[in-house]
Amino acid sequence: MQERVGVYICHCGSNIAGTVNVEKVTEEANGMENVVVARDYKYMCSDPGQNLIKQDIAEHKLTRVVVAACSPRMHEPTFRKAVQQGGLNGFLLEMANIREHCSWVSTNYDAATKKAAALTRAAVKRVVFHEPIEQREMPVNRTTLVVGGGIAGIQAALQIGGAGYPVVLVEKEPSIGGHMAQFDKTFPTMDCAACILTPKMVNADQDPNITLMTHSEVVEVDGFVGNYKIKIKKKPRYVKEDVCTGCNDCVEVCVYKNKIPSEFDAGLGKRSAIYIPFPQAVPLKAIVDADKCLMLTKGKCKQPCVTACQREAIDFEQKEEIVEIEAGAIILATGHDMFDPSIAPQWGFGIYDNVITSMQFERMTNASGPTQGKIVLKDGTKPKRVAVLHCIGSRDEKYHKHCSRVCCMSSVKFSHLAKEKLPEAEVYDLYMDMRTFGKQYEEFYNRVQDEGVTFIRGKGAEVTNIEGQLTVRVEDTLLGVYREIPVDMVILNSALIPRKDSDRVSQIFNISRGESGFFLESHIKLDPVKTTTEGVYIAGTCQSPKDIPDTVAQGSAAAAEAMAAIATGKVKISPIIAMLNQDICSGCKSCLNMCRYNAITFDEDKKVAYINEAVCKGCGTCATTCPSGAIAISHFTKEQIFAQIEGVCGL
Ligand SMILES: Cc1cc2nc3c(=O)[nH]c(=O)nc-3n(C[C@H](O)[C@H](O)[C@H](O)COP(=O)(O)OP(=O)(O)OC[C@H]3O[C@@H](n4cnc5c(N)ncnc54)[C@H](O)[C@@H]3O)c2cc1C
Ligand code: SF4
Ligand code: SF4
Repeated sequence: MQERVGVYICHCGSNIAGTVNVEKVTEEANGMENVVVARDYKYMCSDPGQNLIKQDIAEHKLTRVVVAACSPRMHEPTFRKAVQQGGLNGFLLEMANIREHCSWVSTNYDAATKKAAALTRAAVKRVVFHEPIEQREMPVNRTTLVVGGGIAGIQAALQIGGAGYPVVLVEKEPSIGGHMAQFDKTFPTMDCAACILTPKMVNADQDPNITLMTHSEVVEVDGFVGNYKIKIKKKPRYVKEDVCTGCNDCVEVCVYKNKIPSEFDAGLGKRSAIYIPFPQAVPLKAIVDADKCLMLTKGKCKQPCVTACQREAIDFEQKEEIVEIEAGAIILATGHDMFDPSIAPQWGFGIYDNVITSMQFERMTNASGPTQGKIVLKDGTKPKRVAVLHCIGSRDEKYHKHCSRVCCMSSVKFSHLAKEKLPEAEVYDLYMDMRTFGKQYEEFYNRVQDEGVTFIRGKGAEVTNIEGQLTVRVEDTLLGVYREIPVDMVILNSALIPRKDSDRVSQIFNISRGESGFFLESHIKLDPVKTTTEGVYIAGTCQSPKDIPDTVAQGSAAAAEAMAAIATGKVKISPIIAMLNQDICSGCKSCLNMCRYNAITFDEDKKVAYINEAVCKGCGTCATTCPSGAIAISHFTKEQIFAQIEGVCGL
């Protein structure tokens, strides 16, 4: 039977029609073999656009549909649904991407039109070889894995746990809380970070639906949406979690008491080799630093910690464990790292005393921090002049091009805190552009301006020491003058940057990273928490720098997406998979090790390979490997691909 193809060319407003002569492409399509109707329309994805397809399927008895529009990544599901509603199998559709591949990459009207016509012809040739295929459904595991226990991960876990679904929350540090746990006050309301975060941390620990695994990391992920198999490395704490009461007795007697720089205090405070990360830590359990503890590094210590612990909780024999879990959905909330200004000597960090980072200032101003909330110089005296420098490592071609988004506001917060705690001090806030984008942010900025902070528009270009005087050099772009400002303390507001292990983590979870290195969302506007791997979602600053309100919103959004995926109890998975013809398979086993999803096994009795359809992702690697040509990928058969090539070549 001769196929009856309908072709629909979209204008995409002026996105396509501005550079491609859609009428001409439609005219050419009308003359193509098998085409019974070709139309152009302003927005094919709109309701009237989709109705055109449905009506034509009925009126013209179409058997195949081609839509020449935007990327199939965006609207293939939309048009598949329209085709299905019109009465055809959804896979009898082919899309030609004449937006990203033609109009968006060319300013040449004729060339873009010619290419659009060629791609449309290729789609028409290919669609003729399409076969109806059925969407597969698999049962879903209702557990969600949340990776990262900052505010994003905690929010997502609480949301899912609260809805009655099981959650495994994996945090690589000894306590959950992330960066927010280090802050004292949070802009714009200046409410206490601990007061709003600690109850959530405690709830996450106490929720019977949430299994908390701290000091742990995911090392392997196998499977697919609805059915992920995950291996988690649980590192030894050398303290029995179920026995330790967090009494602190061991910490007090450790031979390294107050000798090791505390990570939580950004190096300003000191801790022991056995320590509790911070007073509100969850879980509130001691942990031994394996790289510092005398017993673990040298094998000899009098072990006063062991003697002090009345609960006999310390166990130097603990070993690393691999815990295997299964989950239907995964939420990555691994957050951000801070730019290290010591690699940029122009700002004097690590060279001059009293040049500190934003996190150090956060800890210094924290009532439970190393200086009990007092802003002091290294010699213990109060600074009389303080400068806050924005954009350290952000919006800088040399380091990171992206805007860290929250630093303007956290700088304004620092200026406010400096003025509040040191009313007599001169406070200078040096900014390139002031970005107060959020709710109540502009009001907070205005308030701090009224508090007497001197705002200078210009990037702090250099921090230097002129005859023993710390000095900030800046070009004041409003006054058009170059200034040297003598100060006692400089706060460098560092960029929020991707985690240093984000490449490894993205590979484990099979997701991509964007240009700036943060995890890439499926669609920046329409799918900001989805990734291109089904069932894997992202939330918080692992996606891009953002403030706490946006982070919390994303945590909830990712939780909603994950619950939508698991709530129905079954999940639709792509039917585009490898098909192995066992009559042709020579049993050479070439394909076995090529499949990164371990979807191929070998039947030793029949001496042929076998593809596990549930595991296959249809990536096509095996098909290109098989020397006997025994493997084909459904929807990407040789006939379909060659027909498409012929179409592009105008054959
Ligand atoms: C100096 C400064 C001040 C700020 N002040 C404010 C403020 O006042 N108000 C405001 O709204 N916002 C503020 N922010 C922004 C705020 O810090 C972020 O919005 C928030 O911390 C993002 O939370 P998160 O959970 O996405 O990431 P994080 O806080 O970074 O948490 C991520 C968590 O994931 C864990 N993790 C990382 N990798 C892994 C892994 N592979 N496996 C398991 N766990 C992992 C980490 O250990 C961490 O616990 C400030 C930011 C900075 C830098
Ligand atoms: S290990 Fe023992 S001494 Fe140390 S905090 Fe836990 S219970 Fe207290
Ligand atoms: S064994 Fe010694 S070094 Fe290690 S935690 Fe105990 S007291 Fe500290």
